[in-house]
Amino acid sequence: MPEPPTIPIRAAVLRTPSRPLKIERLEMECPRDDEVLVRMVASGICHTDIDFCDGGASGPIVLGHEGSGVVERIGKAMKGIKPGDHVVLSYQSCGRCRPCRRGHPAGCQRFWEANFGFARLDGTNALRGGVRGHFFGQSSFATHALATVRNLVKVPMSLPLELLAPLGCGLQTGAGTVMNSLAVRAGSSIAVFGAGSVGLAAVMAARIVKAKTIIAVDINNRRLKLACELGATHSINNRRSDLVASIKAITGGGVDYIVESTADHEMEQFAAELLNPGGKAALLSGASAPDGLPGERHVLSVIQGDAVPQKFIPKLIKLYEEGRFPFDRLVKFYDFTKINRAIADSKRGSTIKPVLLISNEAIAP
Ligand SMILES: [Zn+2]
Ligand SMILES: [Zn+2]
Repeated sequence: MPEPPTIPIRAAVLRTPSRPLKIERLEMECPRDDEVLVRMVASGICHTDIDFCDGGASGPIVLGHEGSGVVERIGKAMKGIKPGDHVVLSYQSCGRCRPCRRGHPAGCQRFWEANFGFARLDGTNALRGGVRGHFFGQSSFATHALATVRNLVKVPMSLPLELLAPLGCGLQTGAGTVMNSLAVRAGSSIAVFGAGSVGLAAVMAARIVKAKTIIAVDINNRRLKLACELGATHSINNRRSDLVASIKAITGGGVDYIVESTADHEMEQFAAELLNPGGKAALLSGASAPDGLPGERHVLSVIQGDAVPQKFIPKLIKLYEEGRFPFDRLVKFYDFTKINRAIADSKRGSTIKPVLLISNEAIAP
């Protein structure tokens, strides 16, 4: 078999954990029949990227999993998509297992491999030079990425593509947890632990579904203030005041729903303790949920807000256009070359959702 043809790209490569990313020139295979080549316009930076930067993988890799861009080339088998289309990239799934066939790709049996395997599902890699890509089926910290019909979402050309990038993971996860996984009811009470991009998306979604009491919990007052502007009815700084006593003072008991986005073990514990009987808590860290809670309380471990990206992302875009999901207030843009600065700002908490501006060059013919 001859070597597949390649194109030159530039990508932010992590060669050594905990060291800065370096933008390098690489060669990447042209799209296969079932792939699309996307020229990346922007990419959000999510906490999972940062966790990997700090040592979650060995060997040179390209991270990034909240990409948005313009379709540049399509594989022969691709239908319903053409060069020039605007797309947002989301998580990858196999499309063949039972959960995928039943329209529940967030439960894909090969979810881990498809998103964290740094290879295609057949084990191959499109990047040359020993660098591994395909993170979340994209590796969007690059000028170009390969995606498939499973993780690509067509979006309206009328909106700025760079703004839409973070819809693919963090915002989908926060809003999907409230709207899909917990199915929060109107008139209910909800506490959201952590006012980062995922938590703030959950707060906005809780307002959309008309929860009555929306309590934001964080240790950063600036974020709590923003949470209140986006829909929280109450806020608690849990470094300064007792979480249990504060929630009790607000609701007279516990809450009906909790979204736990901090991945802090102590907070996960509180999530189970502060639920009203019949209440539901969602853990977003991947931690396994404890079973056997009394009083019909449920704790769920949620992935990607149980969202089907091709349905849920257009729904979020519509809500944004109606002014009901103003996620633009979380975003700060950085030039691609400032990627390490953007990561540092996110870690320090001074930026909620960094978005890298990767290219704004004219669309290739
Ligand atoms: Zn699957
Ligand atoms: Zn993410």
